[in-house]
Amino acid sequence: MTAPPTTQIPGFRGTVIAPGHDRYDEARAVWNGTVDRRPRLIARGSGTADVAAAVRFARHRDLEIAVRGGGHNVAGTALCEDGIVIDLSAMRAITVDPVGRTAHVQGGALWGDVDHETQAHGLATTGGIVSHTGVGGLSLGGGIGWLMRKYGLTVDNLLEAEVVTAEGEILRASPGDHPDLFWALRGGGGNFGVVSSFRFTLHPVGPTVMAGPVFWAAEDTTDVLRFYREFAAAAPDELGNVIRLGTIPPLAGVSEELRFRPAIAVASCYAGSVEDGERAIRALREFGTPLVDLVGPTRYVDHQSSIDDTLPHGWHYYWKGTDLTGLSDEVIDIVAEHAYHATSPRSYAAMFHLGGAVARAPRDSTAYPGRDADHNIIIDAVWLPEQDDRVGAAEAAWAREFLDALQPHRAGVYVNFLDSDDDPSRVREAYGDDTYRRLAGVKAKYDAENVFHNNKNIRPG
Ligand SMILES: Cc1cc2nc3c(=O)[nH]c(=O)nc-3n(C[C@H](O)[C@H](O)[C@H](O)COP(=O)(O)OP(=O)(O)OC[C@H]3O[C@@H](n4cnc5c(N)ncnc54)[C@H](O)[C@@H]3O)c2cc1C
Repeated sequence: MTAPPTTQIPGFRGTVIAPGHDRYDEARAVWNGTVDRRPRLIARGSGTADVAAAVRFARHRDLEIAVRGGGHNVAGTALCEDGIVIDLSAMRAITVDPVGRTAHVQGGALWGDVDHETQAHGLATTGGIVSHTGVGGLSLGGGIGWLMRKYGLTVDNLLEAEVVTAEGEILRASPGDHPDLFWALRGGGGNFGVVSSFRFTLHPVGPTVMAGPVFWAAEDTTDVLRFYREFAAAAPDELGNVIRLGTIPPLAGVSEELRFRPAIAVASCYAGSVEDGERAIRALREFGTPLVDLVGPTRYVDHQSSIDDTLPHGWHYYWKGTDLTGLSDEVIDIVAEHAYHATSPRSYAAMFHLGGAVARAPRDSTAYPGRDADHNIIIDAVWLPEQDDRVGAAEAAWAREFLDALQPHRAGVYVNFLDSDDDPSRVREAYGDDTYRRLAGVKAKYDAENVFHNNKNIRPG
């Protein structure tokens, strides 16, 4: 064991990890293995008071601040170089009120924590589709997932948040308390303070749902997407769909000879009875000649973690994302042409089906701006840490070329899909001018000095 860190943060009862600590490298690792930053201190707090103490300490010492929730942001904004990381990873407690159907969630929780506790009561809220993703960053950017078409985005289910401001003050943001801050937190990312806890609305879901992917050969992509376009347009709100184009990952139920074969998948999850889900997904399963059909009655918690192992911590990732104006024939052709040109068998593109409750919410109710898009796409270049840098460069070039080809069909971008080389103009693209201006006004009120800038930054305006 190395000696305990000498740095003391007044009023802080958590763990302080500094260079030389035997867990320093582990503590500064994030999901994306390409991110390699060396903070001066990692302040792993155990509650709101610790977060406030860490913010005050950092301000007093004029230290750069980064905030870590689940550590999943592809751009690695959870870390900073030579500053302090306010690390919420020890703050993962969840308390469910099954009668009021709400969950109180600490700011460092992962979606797997939330699903585990809420599903014990047959309840859930919209969360990410990989269980090791953080609630903090995902929620503050909007939050898309299987349940959104029925129950709205994660931010549409946020009832209140406890926020530690740039001054180290503790505020409650809700429709009645600091409503401007509450609006901005629901899409504006980590720009306004550290959220030490969230309270979400819950809904009856499962515990068994009809869910899973159907895979077809890559050569069938155009036909599948043209069929899917009609299928999705007629889909009930209960049906969440995500298309995946790449190779077939080594999931349970996929035979050895199908693994890593180029394929398109449409994965679904029906937020209703298994019987209704069976009916809603049937036409999809009967289309063409699937290579493998993994749809079936599944525990919702299992579905929520079913692709966890295909995106593990420490691999190398590079993303490009955009909202799409629609699934026109031209878009389908571009997607079919580019999706399988990656050289790494782990790279893929995914399209989320939005619409439903996402589209029905009033445009100014939250700071999430992408409600008019029916689909978005994330182009995810993935390679292994031991692979040559040239492999990464080739994969990243594939992602950029794919995005460029979609240029005439782009309509904004989901802020949580931006990578580190997306220039600041893409943050403005994500919000659009009006929402950006309004967010900049809230930023000026709560963080005029832009203390929280290691994020998809909104400048105080
Ligand atoms: C494998 C994978 C799957 C994903 N799936 C989905 C999905 O299904 N749906 C979806 O919407 N997105 C998804 N995403 C994107 C995800 O929303 C973003 O990566 C998000 O930033 C992750 O949040 P985090 O807390 O884990 O990240 P972190 O890297 O810890 O944080 C990112 C930023 O968020 C801010 N932040 C985090 N927590 C707090 C907090 N408590 N208070 C204040 N600021 C905070 C900070 O500014 C920080 O820099 C996925 C990402 C990955 C890697």
